[in-house]
Amino acid sequence: MAKYDVAVIGSGPGGYVAAIRCAQLGLKTAIIEKYDVMGGTCLNVGCIPSKALLDSSHHYEDAIKHFEEHGIEIPGDIKLNFKKMIERKASVVDQTTKGIAFLMDKNKVDVFTGMGAFKDATHIEITNGKKKDTIEAKNTIIATGSKPSTLPFIKLDKDRVITSTEALSLKEVPKHLLVIGGGVIGLELGQVYRRLGAEVTVIEYLDRIIPTMDAAQSKELMKAMKKQGVKFNLSHKVSAVSKKGKEITVTATDKKDKEVTFKGDYCLVSVGRKPYTDGLKAENAGVKITERGMIDVNDHLQTNIKNIYAIGDVVRGAMLAHKASEEGTMVAEIIAGQKPHINYNLIPGVVYTWPEVASVGKTEEQLKEGNVEYKSGQFPMRALGRSRASGDLDGFVKILSDKETDEVLGVHMVGARVADLIAEAVVAMEYRASAEDIARMSHAHPTYAEAVKEAALAATENRPIHI
Ligand SMILES: Cc1cc2nc3c(=O)[nH]c(=O)nc-3n(C[C@H](O)[C@H](O)[C@H](O)COP(=O)(O)OP(=O)(O)OC[C@H]3O[C@@H](n4cnc5c(N)ncnc54)[C@H](O)[C@@H]3O)c2cc1C
Repeated sequence: MAKYDVAVIGSGPGGYVAAIRCAQLGLKTAIIEKYDVMGGTCLNVGCIPSKALLDSSHHYEDAIKHFEEHGIEIPGDIKLNFKKMIERKASVVDQTTKGIAFLMDKNKVDVFTGMGAFKDATHIEITNGKKKDTIEAKNTIIATGSKPSTLPFIKLDKDRVITSTEALSLKEVPKHLLVIGGGVIGLELGQVYRRLGAEVTVIEYLDRIIPTMDAAQSKELMKAMKKQGVKFNLSHKVSAVSKKGKEITVTATDKKDKEVTFKGDYCLVSVGRKPYTDGLKAENAGVKITERGMIDVNDHLQTNIKNIYAIGDVVRGAMLAHKASEEGTMVAEIIAGQKPHINYNLIPGVVYTWPEVASVGKTEEQLKEGNVEYKSGQFPMRALGRSRASGDLDGFVKILSDKETDEVLGVHMVGARVADLIAEAVVAMEYRASAEDIARMSHAHPTYAEAVKEAALAATENRPIHI
């Protein structure tokens, strides 16, 4: 029987990063993945394919809507080849997952393909069809991720009533896509299909979209997406989804308890994701799972069984790829005897719509709730020369800093390329910068990053230069 210092179950951004870090630290490591390809949700049916389709659909929208204003004329009609767009996405996924296989090889991590299930706290059985292997591991890292969740009364037929997984591989552009849930995944995929010509209607239970982000961001993104033609129905509680032939009907009740129906040809159910532990047989190792299917861990990501850890979407916290990867690194270093630390307050959150949305630290609502006295500085993207040059005028940067010490407490952005800009805020906050520190740093001109400096000036002494 093969023996390892560490076995990692699941090869998503949590698992594969944990495996690489373990190997770098000299630990003999195995990784177990139930699918033939590695990379988990993120690489196969999450971050990477959704960004590929967002990029492709953005090019298409630019070509049909914006080329002309830039003086670019294309003779004849611009045609969408949706099949090719989906094939390109598949090829991006393929290259990326092959990259993980290469990295496992390079780092001498043994890869086992098959379903991993605990026999006890130090033995894992791997089943692949009729083939069974058992390995022994001094330590195990559970990184089994999550699956899309649904509402109890919705029957997902995965043909027309679909989750994000199917929405990434449709055979045609929907005529009218009904999106249940105004969170990140629903909005990103809704925008893809809106750009490709679908009518898109979002039905959201709460009174705002992207509800975990700063309220100003929810408002600004909704305003921008409405201009793009997406329809929003907030404070609507979906009560039924039915299918008749190609027609889908979603029934909901609005704020006044009035029944409303929406008709479309596809319905994307994007109401969140749930931790995944099916088939893991965690009970054989004595590992505790909460009622919601989540693996219970302490601050060191250790389960109730001391040699078994869990990371990523299967444990508490934001379901984000980079959070999973940070946790993978942290657990590998703990096993190797180091004392790593994650500052969960500084895990950035991003929505890859256009305009993009990015956030780190506390929202204005959280500061108010915590009775923290703060200053707020905001700068609109439209006041930047860079924004006028590209034509991306929507959005703002908002910096919240402590009223007394000026320490930056939260940075919230909407606009072109803010998914990348947020890194500046993370660095600043990691080093506990004040708004004035950012305001006094030189930012290249013309860039979108100048909005960060201007918002910092506004937060410091209310003295932005360009508004
Ligand atoms: C459409 C979409 C877009 C997204 N976009 C972003 C984004 O832009 N940025 C971002 O940060 N996050 C994004 N996410 C979220 C991100 O994909 C997840 O947070 C991330 O993949 C979690 O990583 P993980 O390693 O915990 O689990 P996963 O990536 O889910 O990987 C778990 C792996 O474990 C395997 N597995 C499960 N059980 C077993 C078993 N018993 N034996 C063997 N293998 C097993 C699974 O097959 C899977 O490969 C997106 C998600 C979706 C659905």
